[in-house]
Amino acid sequence: GRAALATGLEKSLTAQILHTYETRLFPSADSIEVKRTFIEKFATILVTEFPGWEVDIHVFGSSVNGLGTSRSDVDICLTTEHRELEDIFLLNKALRKHNMRTYCIPRARVPIVKTWDPELRIASDINVNNTIALHNTRMLQTFVAVDGRVRPFVLAVKHWTKCRDINDAAFGGTLSSYAWVNLAIHFLQTRNPPILPVLHPRARSLNAEKCMALGEVDLSFNDNIGQLREFGRGNSESLGFLLYAFFRTYAYEFDYRTQVVSLRNGCYLSKAQKGWDVGRPSRIFCIEEPFSTWLNLGHSANTIAVEGIRREFQRAFTILRDGGSYDQICEIY
Ligand code: ATP
Ligand code: MG
Repeated sequence: GRAALATGLEKSLTAQILHTYETRLFPSADSIEVKRTFIEKFATILVTEFPGWEVDIHVFGSSVNGLGTSRSDVDICLTTEHRELEDIFLLNKALRKHNMRTYCIPRARVPIVKTWDPELRIASDINVNNTIALHNTRMLQTFVAVDGRVRPFVLAVKHWTKCRDINDAAFGGTLSSYAWVNLAIHFLQTRNPPILPVLHPRARSLNAEKCMALGEVDLSFNDNIGQLREFGRGNSESLGFLLYAFFRTYAYEFDYRTQVVSLRNGCYLSKAQKGWDVGRPSRIFCIEEPFSTWLNLGHSANTIAVEGIRREFQRAFTILRDGGSYDQICEIY
């Protein structure tokens, strides 16, 4: 059942989350300006190094989806018909000529150049012609626009994961920001009554199934913000209560062994239903990518990491239950 938090605790926790959101998480005007300057500088580098090439710059990820902070990196997707640029070492060389520190990850599912601009002090991940994330960015923008609680709630979750060192899929073997965001959004979809809607079509059409079979992804979803705004008004749960219930859910209620988090469907699926119960460790955390539904966003975390993440949920829940503060659960690991 709904084990409530004492009203006083719930109110003060909500106030603490909002305070952190307003003073430390909401991106500063300065940081937005620095990002703009960086993108201009980057555009100039491209024109200088590849004169006459038509290359479009698309910014995606948290600097545009509403779920970034002043310190978030800038995620950039370049689109161009000059496919030779898909060899990211070419871009790497160009950036280095302009004093950028770079590091290539050429063999990833999405090859990227990781860049650090020592002058503007800003990090960037750049890919070429990999447009899939532009669509999930638009999806997250839509969720953020539907209800005013989404942005502070998701930022509060992300901040906690970064402080507790469980937000590093590539090097830490935990979960990516994108996986955490999926988890947090899905949680808001599964409130009763729900705070967020399901944006994807209920069942795949036969046609869509065929496209999938051809290795194509169905990119459609409901992005009619005008129609969706205020969807969550039937639910009056506070940020404090939501965070507390989120921790409880993943500390004690979610069945890591059998369940799959599906934002696409706005509910839990079973591992068996997705065929994810065979050929992989049963304790792995399953979070379905909403567009490329065969991908598990939790794949980066092994059994031991999942146990660690679960202990973090339990720790946060216990602290809040016993009257602790948001700052306390975010104590640097
Ligand atoms: P942060 O503020 O931590 O940078 P972020 O959302 O920008 O958060 P990144 O790890 O920088 O997270 O990823 C950038 C974007 O790339 C995500 O917002 C998402 O749109 C996309 N992305 C990341 N991982 C995946 C994935 N496994 N599948 C599809 N898209 C992904
Ligand atoms: Mg990012």
